[in-house]
Amino acid sequence: MITFLFNNPEKSLKSYRKLQEQNRDGGQCIKCGACETECPQGLDIRGWLDTIHETFK
Ligand code: SF4
Repeated sequence: MITFLFNNPEKSLKSYRKLQEQNRDGGQCIKCGACETECPQGLDIRGWLDTIHETFK
């Protein structure tokens, strides 16, 4: 995932700006954890959203 996000930073930033315009970016997460409860791969979704938001905000 990290390679996907950061291998093309300009494209990733552009995509993140679009999400921000729609109020769908990682900063909108309320940390409820519902997605992690449902995730069959046990991903640290809240942690990833924090990392992505801190990188691209
Ligand atoms: S923890 Fe998951 S389900 Fe809850 S707001 Fe954040 S992304 Fe959405």
